[in-house]
Amino acid sequence: MAISSKGRMVTKIHDKWYDLTNFEDFHPGGPVALGLAYGRDATVMFESHHPFTDRRVLDAILQKYELDEAASQRLQTLEEQHGIPDHTFVWKSDFGDALKFHVREYFQAESKRRNVSLIEATKATPEKWMEVIVLGFFYASSLVSLIRGEWSALLTVPLSAWLSSVNTFHDAAHFALHKNWKINHIVSYAYPFISSPFAWYHQHNIGHHSYTNVGHRDPDLVHYSWLKREHTSVPWRPVHGKLQRQAWFLTTWWSLAVGVALASMNDLWMLIYGVYNDSVPMKVISRRRMLRHVTGRVLTMCLIYTWPFFVFDSWNRILAFANIPMLVYSFLFMMNTQINHLTPETAHESDEDWYKHQVVTAQDFGVSNRFCYLMSGGLNYQIMHHLFPTVNHCHLVKLQPIVARLCEKHDVEYKQVAGYVAAIKAHHVHTYLMSLDDHSKRS
Ligand SMILES: [Zn+2]
Repeated sequence: MAISSKGRMVTKIHDKWYDLTNFEDFHPGGPVALGLAYGRDATVMFESHHPFTDRRVLDAILQKYELDEAASQRLQTLEEQHGIPDHTFVWKSDFGDALKFHVREYFQAESKRRNVSLIEATKATPEKWMEVIVLGFFYASSLVSLIRGEWSALLTVPLSAWLSSVNTFHDAAHFALHKNWKINHIVSYAYPFISSPFAWYHQHNIGHHSYTNVGHRDPDLVHYSWLKREHTSVPWRPVHGKLQRQAWFLTTWWSLAVGVALASMNDLWMLIYGVYNDSVPMKVISRRRMLRHVTGRVLTMCLIYTWPFFVFDSWNRILAFANIPMLVYSFLFMMNTQINHLTPETAHESDEDWYKHQVVTAQDFGVSNRFCYLMSGGLNYQIMHHLFPTVNHCHLVKLQPIVARLCEKHDVEYKQVAGYVAAIKAHHVHTYLMSLDDHSKRS
C-alpha cells in the first residue's frame, strides 16, 4: 500500500536512511504509523514506539531496508528542507533501560495472566472497552438531546464528548486502543470536532510527544504566540504583558482553543505553509489525498456550526446550540491538557537523555485520586503517558509506582501536585511569569 503517490517511504533513524516502502504492508502499525516517519528524522518516534520490541528484530528489519551511502547523500529530511533546528537526544541510558525492563516485566506478567500477547497486554483491557462503550453511549444519547433542543444538552454534550474522546480518540491516535491499527485508525475519525487525525498526528505525536517543551520543535509552545507566550523561546511582546494577566482573556483563550484553532485554523495554516506551528513539517501527500482532507474538514466544520439553523426556529436556540457545546468542550480540553507541561517547574526543563527529558518536562496531578483519573481520562498520569505513549491509559495507574521508584533510584525529579486546583494554579503562575518582560533575561 502506497502512503503517497510521490516518492518512496524513506525515513532517517539514528543518522541512517531507510526505504521502508516494501515494509508498509508488514508493519504492525500499518501505513498510518509508518506514515508519521515519512521523509523525516524519526529517531524519537522509532524509539518511543518500540519500547517492548526485541531490539535484534528491529535492527534486522532496519538493516534489510538500509540505503547505501550514495543514495543517502541525495536525501534531506523534511526538517532540513524547512530549516527546522536540529535537536537530538542521547539514547544510551541506564534509566531508560531500567524503565523498559521493569515495565516490560509488568506487561509480561499481564500477558501471562490474561493469556494474550505482550503487545495486546499493553492495549485496552476488556474492562477499558466496557468504559469506552459506556462513555460512547453517554455521548451518543446526549447528542440526541442536543438535536431535540434540550437545554441541559449544552452541558452534557461537551462533558460526554470530552470523557468519550479523551478515553478513545487520544489512545487510538497513539495506537494504544487496540493492537489492530485499522481499529485505531477508524476510531481516530470518530471525534472530528477536535482535530483532523492528520493534523493531530503532526501536532501531538510527531511534535509534542517527541520534543516536549523543546523550543522551535514542540508546536504546543507556539499556538498563536503573537498573542500568548508560553515559553522563553518566544520573544516577548507588549501584548503578552497586557493580555495574559487578564482573566477574561485566559477564559476566552481556553474556550476558543479547540473550535477556532485546533479543529480549523491550525489545520488551514499547516496546509498553506507546509509546517505545523513553525515546528513540524507537513508530510507530503498526493493531490487527491489533499482534496479529500480539505473536503472532510470543510464539511465537518459546516456541520458543527450550521446544523441548528436547519433544526430550530428561535435565534436564541440557534446561537446557543451552534456555539456553547464547542466553547465548553474547548474549556474542558484546555483545563486537562495545559496543566501537564506548562508550569514553572516543567516548561523550561530539559535533559539530553530522552527518558529523563520526558520525566522532567511533565507533571502528574491527583495521583491516586479517582475523580482526577476519571475526569482527565488518565492524563493526570502524564509522565507515564509520555514515557510509554503506545500504552493504553488504563495501565498507567499500575505503572506509576514502578516509574516513581526508578526515578528515585536514578535521581530523576518526579513532579506531582495534589489535584486540579494545584495544577491549574501552577499553570497560571507559569502564564503570569511568561507575561513578564524580564523573565527571559532572568532565566
Ligand atoms: Zn498523548
